[in-house]
Formats: sequence, structure tokens, C-alpha cells
Amino acid sequence: MDEIKKQDVKAFAYLDAINKEKWTASHDGGWRCGILTTNMSECINGVLKGARCLPVSALVEITLERTVHYFHVRAMKGQKILQNNQLWTDFTCKMFISWQQKAVEHTVTKYSHAQQSAPVVTRRQGRHGMNIHVVKIANRECSCGKWNQFGIPCSHAQKVCGAYNISVASMVKDYYDVMAYNNTYSKHFEPVQSEDYWDDPNFQLVHDPTIRTVTRPGRNQTTRIHNEMDWRQTRARQEAQQQQGDSSIQENVPKEDC
Ligand SMILES: [Zn+2]
Repeated sequence: MDEIKKQDVKAFAYLDAINKEKWTASHDGGWRCGILTTNMSECINGVLKGARCLPVSALVEITLERTVHYFHVRAMKGQKILQNNQLWTDFTCKMFISWQQKAVEHTVTKYSHAQQSAPVVTRRQGRHGMNIHVVKIANRECSCGKWNQFGIPCSHAQKVCGAYNISVASMVKDYYDVMAYNNTYSKHFEPVQSEDYWDDPNFQLVHDPTIRTVTRPGRNQTTRIHNEMDWRQTRARQEAQQQQGDSSIQENVPKEDC
């Protein structure tokens, strides 16, 4: 913070007023910057792929164009889901049904009707299975962690809901609802007219020839701080390369005569 203060007092005052848990990796307990924000940034990166290092005006244009397209495609998809009388989006339906099918294999013992809690035992599969997960419907939680993570009742929770005659559909988080999806993408964008018709900005951009970008040969070194998502990608790439190497070794092994 002292370093930021030295650089820019206004920036320091702005950041100092915000809870540090919300914008620093050192104070967020490993949640926000490690997973949530990074995931969100990767989504935006995915949409705006190829839009880096462009002039500012082109960057704004391409961002607007792709965002409009992104919203248009999803608005159409939302209408289609609504016409099909689906409760949730395709992703949610797929996950819900998959866990619903799995729930049939579990066994459940009712413990507390007041708390609607119960242990659920999974099916034996060879050496595996026979795991016990504890579901507490009143708290909307299961010890496997999937319900808490995805907001969709896992197979264990669905089994317990069935035992206590509770509607499983009512346990799915509201943000998966078709109406929520449609509301998200129902906003519209205003087309931008030609620059000649823009309002006068009351200022003039002046080119400063003293500011030049220094270009060096070779690839630029990134200053981005790497996180667990990068490590995972690097590991996957290394494993793929190793597999490729192994298969080429296999191909080069001389075949034995029959
Ligand atoms: Zn579970």
C-alpha cells in the first residue's frame, strides 16, 4: 500500500476505502482471486480472444461487437428453452438428471425429521463405494460438497429429498431458472453511429511524439502473476507432450518378424 501511495495518492485513497478481502490475493483466504475472479477473467478472455494489442478504438469496437453477438446467441437460446417448457438451462438439466439417476443406487436412513438430515450410503462397486455422506436439507448441504459448490442437489441430497417427500426441484438455486437466464440476456445494446454524428467531446487528443513504445526482438515476457489454473494447464501440456513422445518412441520400435 505504501508503494501505491508513493505512485498515486488518489489510487491509494480509492483502494484503501475498499475491503482488502475483495481485491487482494493476500487477504481473500484463497477464494476470490484464486478461483472466482480468475475464472471470471478467463471467461471474458475467452470471449475477447484475439482482441489484445489492438488500437483503442478497434479494441472498443471488437469488444462491443462480440458482446452483442454473445448476448444475441444466448437470448435466442433462452427463448428456445422457454418454448421447450424447461425449468432450467441445459447445463442444469443435464447435471440434475445425471445425479437423479445415480440417486437410485443409494440407500438412506432417516435420522431427524425436524432437521431433515440423513446419512446416505453409496452402492458398492468392487473395492469402491459404500461411502457415507451426510445430508442436511434444512441447511442445504451435503458432506460431499457438490450441492454447496454447484447449487444443484447432488445424488445424495436427491435421495434424502425423496425419503422426506420434499420437492427436489425447489432446492435448485434460483439463478439456474430459465427466467433468470432470460433476464440476464434480455438487455439490448444501442448501435453506434458514424463518428461524424458524435457529440463534441470538448477536448482534443494531441499526439505526444516523445512517448514511444520500445520494441525488443523476441517474445515479450509476461508480467501476469501465475495461479493454479496456469499450473494445471502447464501440467496438462507437459503430460500431452510426454504422451506424444512415448507414442513416437513406440512407433520407432522395430517390429518383430512373425
Ligand atoms: Zn452429496
